[in-house]
Amino acid sequence: MIQHAARPTAEGPVIPQPSPMRHWPIVAAVVVAAAIFLADILTPLEGAVAVLYTTVVLLVARTEHRRAVPLAGLACGVLATIAFVDNHGESVFGGAHVRFAVSLTAIMITTLLCLRNRSARWMLAEQARILELTHDTVIIRDTADTIRYWNDGAEVLYGWRRSEAVGRNAQELLSSDFPVDEVVRGLAGEGKWSGEMTRIRRDGRRIVLASRWLQRFDAEGRRIGIIETSADLTEQIRADAERRQSEERYRTIFNAAGFAIWESDWSDAWQQILAGQAPAQAIGRGALRDANDAAVKLFGMADRAALLAHGMAPFFTPHGAQVLAAIVAELASGERLVEKETEFRVADGRIVEVVMRVTLPLGPHDWSRVLVMAADVTERNEAQAKLVRTQAELAHASRVSMLGQLAASIAHEVNQPLAAIVTYGRSGKRWLAREAPGAREVADCLEHVVSNGTRAADVIGRIRSLARSDTPPAEPLAMRDLIEETILLVGRDAHGTVINLEAADGLPDGFGDKVQIQQVVMNLLINGIQAMADVAAERRVMRVAVTVADDRLQVAVSDRGPGMAEPAMVFNPFFTTKADGMGMGLSICQSIIEAHGGRIAAANNPDDGATFTFTLPIATVELARSA
Ligand code: ADP
Repeated sequence: MIQHAARPTAEGPVIPQPSPMRHWPIVAAVVVAAAIFLADILTPLEGAVAVLYTTVVLLVARTEHRRAVPLAGLACGVLATIAFVDNHGESVFGGAHVRFAVSLTAIMITTLLCLRNRSARWMLAEQARILELTHDTVIIRDTADTIRYWNDGAEVLYGWRRSEAVGRNAQELLSSDFPVDEVVRGLAGEGKWSGEMTRIRRDGRRIVLASRWLQRFDAEGRRIGIIETSADLTEQIRADAERRQSEERYRTIFNAAGFAIWESDWSDAWQQILAGQAPAQAIGRGALRDANDAAVKLFGMADRAALLAHGMAPFFTPHGAQVLAAIVAELASGERLVEKETEFRVADGRIVEVVMRVTLPLGPHDWSRVLVMAADVTERNEAQAKLVRTQAELAHASRVSMLGQLAASIAHEVNQPLAAIVTYGRSGKRWLAREAPGAREVADCLEHVVSNGTRAADVIGRIRSLARSDTPPAEPLAMRDLIEETILLVGRDAHGTVINLEAADGLPDGFGDKVQIQQVVMNLLINGIQAMADVAAERRVMRVAVTVADDRLQVAVSDRGPGMAEPAMVFNPFFTTKADGMGMGLSICQSIIEAHGGRIAAANNPDDGATFTFTLPIATVELARSA
């Protein structure tokens, strides 16, 4: 654009024009200057010819060269002086000298005027370039609505090139649709109008514009047309509509969600936390911006306005405040979404347990719109607690029923020491009845009475602990002792079954709840014994092996019965093949072992019988992990 000559149009602003013959004024100026000089020096016109040098300066002023005008002025002055000195060098002061002075003054004034004109033209050209630079459209129309000026922005927006648009009727070209009355009133009154209008582009697409029109006047105050600038609003209107739609969608989800959602402004809180204040205190004061109906219901408030006015702070319990502090800490460390279970004390004083999800939709450093979602899990937690209680009750009932099945064995187990006590008591009495009572023998008998009494008491103790409904907390378990004790309860030779225990010395302790693990072992032993009820007496042998595998204690209980008909089903609740079976034993075993972090499996042996294997954590490993 810089290379283009700038030329003012009849309508005012300067429109840059290309100039294919940029040097012709210089050539013409040189020819004219030479002709004037020759005429001045050769003809006897007494110096009046020098005034014509102003033509040379005017010709040079048409070029774009910055220094050409002053140089031309100087050269003309020099040529005029040479001719004057040549013609009148020796003559006395007279009319010729005055004419020479007038000519020089004329050349100088013309040069100065040309220079001023030039700088004014440059300023106009600059302004014209600014019009070109703007992305908005700039159109100048005359009183007949003919387009006189059309900038680059108009070319881009309407799709018509300047050469195609200039000279055309604006209404025919653009099919403008605007509030005619309003525009006429505006132009007639204040001489301007601004507002929205639509036009049709070259490609036929209708566009919405924000337009400003200005009435143009000539020097005499006559209306000569309109200058207008417009910006395309189509994209903005579409984006606005999309934003509105998206906002509406968000509102619908927000309000219709079945769980509580609220929006808070934690930006002050964020500053206070940065300044070292406790998060819950800071957040409690955070303004509640919005909340949905489910949130109003969750907190037991009358309506949304009441909840917003009330704020969140009064709902925090000490535990809730702690959880909130943890949530804030995670968000502050850059997390975008944090989920935690917490509780609130709602309007009627009830404690409500919720799973709370907190997100920062505007990014990790903008806490002005924190979105909180909360699902009430009070009922779920209550149901879960009830389930755990029911499971414990069931396990207890199952243990008691197992003890019932073991009644014969237990009776035998207790009867033996009782019979021994009676025998030793009688024998002691006989020793005392002698004329010379044998103190040593009596002491011996009493010793036996005590040891058998203790044995009986032990058996009773074991039964009582198994019959208890609550179970002691997990502890290190010497597996070998636990299994031996259980074998004693079941009866070493129950139904003529021999139970062999294989456990290497130096096995690590398992970790768990003694009564529950004993229940599992006992269940597996009883099932094995029952499975072998019909096999030949000499094959009624069970094997219990304790080993260490993969950092876990492993217990395998095998029998030589017929094996399982459906191994995949045995852990299902109520699966039983026994006429008087309940089918709960193995299902309870499975939940006990899994609650301990172990696994239980069943498989038929390759030759005969079945093997049940369970694993338990090793005490040292478990204690180290929980430490
Ligand atoms: P129940 O003993 O009341 O039937 P369990 O849950 O203890 O309940 O056992 C479920 C079923 O698994 C038994 O009915 C039986 O069919 C099968 N089962 C359990 N242990 C053995 C075993 N050692 N040999 C063969 N089948 C077994």
